[in-house]
Amino acid sequence: MRLLWLLVISALFAAPAAAAPNVLVSIKPLHSIVAAVMEGVGEPALLLNGAASPHSYALKPSDARKIAQADVIFWTGPSVETFLETPLANLASRARVVALANAPGVMRLQARAGGVWEGDEDANGAEAIDGHVWLDPRNAIAMARDVARTLAAVDAAHAPLYSANAERFAIGSMRLDAQLAGELAVLHGRPYLVFHDAFHYFENRYGLSPAGAVTVASDRPPGVRRIETLRARIKAAGPICLFSTPQFSPRLVSALTQGSAAKTAELDDLGADLVPGPKLYEALLTRVAGALRACMLP
Ligand SMILES: [Zn+2]
Repeated sequence: MRLLWLLVISALFAAPAAAAPNVLVSIKPLHSIVAAVMEGVGEPALLLNGAASPHSYALKPSDARKIAQADVIFWTGPSVETFLETPLANLASRARVVALANAPGVMRLQARAGGVWEGDEDANGAEAIDGHVWLDPRNAIAMARDVARTLAAVDAAHAPLYSANAERFAIGSMRLDAQLAGELAVLHGRPYLVFHDAFHYFENRYGLSPAGAVTVASDRPPGVRRIETLRARIKAAGPICLFSTPQFSPRLVSALTQGSAAKTAELDDLGADLVPGPKLYEALLTRVAGALRACMLP
């Protein structure tokens, strides 16, 4: 009994007086990883909710306020959240800004270009790294550990909890990784096309064989000649799956596939319609795998 009281009292005193740091995360997949690391401490704020493309988003005044109030800001880096490059460079506050694509242990791939990989809207300027790093669970683990280290530096009282949460996330992600590898093995060697070259890491990790990207900017409609060119390419590809992302209108998709034998489906790299939070990451990757299988398996 006395031991129980001791435990209760020590738990009360261990309850940290320090409030959770004000953490802001750019996009849903990273927000999910940060939310998992912060479980039991607080909830990070999310900048980009919904289906807007981070490659072409325009900052709202409410976003600027969130940025100004944050103690820590996590983002992928300029190759994905292009809209954050200038605001983060001109930050008036002393917030810590962490580009998670550069976290220690994150494996980075070159952005694909040329041939079947037509210049994507991400391939802007000198930044030749493909920024969609979260689509490999091993990278998510490395990022979670970096998040834990970063948060421990600003909030030492919760350091052990951040670290334990990151390791729990790592165990879950390794399980997810093995499950996805099993589900996707059947798709090896089957070609498909994507609208937005966002799945390089996923394809690399699970041995998938995309036939290329038919690129259209998500923020403005392509011209008539562009549509003709892409339509011819899609038609020539034969009965193949063409995956769009939620940023593209269904009208555009049907205009491009008119007269072709292509099947269309959606692959979402961001979780546009998924509920933000620690569970989103696993739901997002599971759904990508499910969508690939659903379209490509007879
Ligand atoms: Zn993208």
